[in-house]
Amino acid sequence: MEIINQKQKSRCELGVCKNRAEFAIRAKRLGARNEIHICKDCLSALNKQSSKILKNKANNEKTIKKAQDEKTTG
Ligand SMILES: [Zn+2]
Repeated sequence: MEIINQKQKSRCELGVCKNRAEFAIRAKRLGARNEIHICKDCLSALNKQSSKILKNKANNEKTIKKAQDEKTTG
């Protein structure tokens, strides 16, 4: 997937946000109809949220792995 600058006039499609969309999230092999239009604010929020959640996920996986290692060794 890729995030592109988009020039069409469209609104941000996230939630109740009605900002003008500056970007489009495009999945591979899908056409323009399947793009998600998103404004800068929402993209930034999405970025913050996703890095936070992915970091948590990585930490959780580390913790789980550690627990499993401890189980097998001790
Ligand atoms: Zn938005």
